[in-house]
Amino acid sequence: MNLKNLSDQALLNETDRLAKQSRQLLLSLLHHLREIERRRLFSALKCESLFDYVVKHLKFSEGEANRRISAMRMIREVPEIEEKIVGGSLTLSTVVMARVLFGKEEKAGRPMGTQAKAQVMNKLENQSAREAQKYLSSINPEMKRTKELTFDLIEDETLRKKLLQVKGLLAHSHPNMSLSEMLHRWCDQELAKKTLSRSASPTSEVKRSKAETNRQIWRRDQAKCINCSSTYALERDHIRPRSTGGPDTLENQRLLCRSCNQRAAIEYFGERKMESFLKSSVTKYG
Ligand SMILES: [Zn+2]
Repeated sequence: MNLKNLSDQALLNETDRLAKQSRQLLLSLLHHLREIERRRLFSALKCESLFDYVVKHLKFSEGEANRRISAMRMIREVPEIEEKIVGGSLTLSTVVMARVLFGKEEKAGRPMGTQAKAQVMNKLENQSAREAQKYLSSINPEMKRTKELTFDLIEDETLRKKLLQVKGLLAHSHPNMSLSEMLHRWCDQELAKKTLSRSASPTSEVKRSKAETNRQIWRRDQAKCINCSSTYALERDHIRPRSTGGPDTLENQRLLCRSCNQRAAIEYFGERKMESFLKSSVTKYG
């Protein structure tokens, strides 16, 4: 392609057209990611999460992956932003910032409804990152704090892996916990231990044997998903499901992360039967 022969106007027009096309492609990519997540199809490629798939398989950087997945989730919540993204009045980074605000508001016990979210998104149209930050901080001053403690900041790789492993173990009761929430929880527990009495309740024989089988499964499968090696949100899965008479034996059970477990269920029972169970998703990076 020799661009040197194009007139100035033709060059500008063509560049405009390409920019719009790239935003349309971006939106189409987000739709595809959403469907891949719905089917938990990344598990079929032994990826432990959609994020893992976008980084390893689609070759986006971690930051790019985070922005795309975050925007994808936001479109699900506020579909109106689609045309603003294609039109270029909303950028992915603004969308991500807004999503952080919505998360903070929810954690503070002030969840915003779809309409309120749509209003915020309207205000953010055509704003620079700086202006957007200023506006969002006027809703929640915490948005001013830019340095949040995240798993990515931990440079010691072994420590980061251990922390993510703990996050994974807690994912069932506390999905999408941030690192600072996790540390708070830990500290609270340690502090509470000092004041707790040590009266242990006697465990029944059945409970003891179930716990022993459980321990054996975790040991045998090395405390990770046997499909994708994830340590996030691990679950004991019955290879032949309990609902079809599958026994609680060691041989009939295996460790799978939640996504691989859901994918296994889709493959066993079919997508239609699993539809209602697939609405919620657990993510490693929130
Ligand atoms: Zn897995």
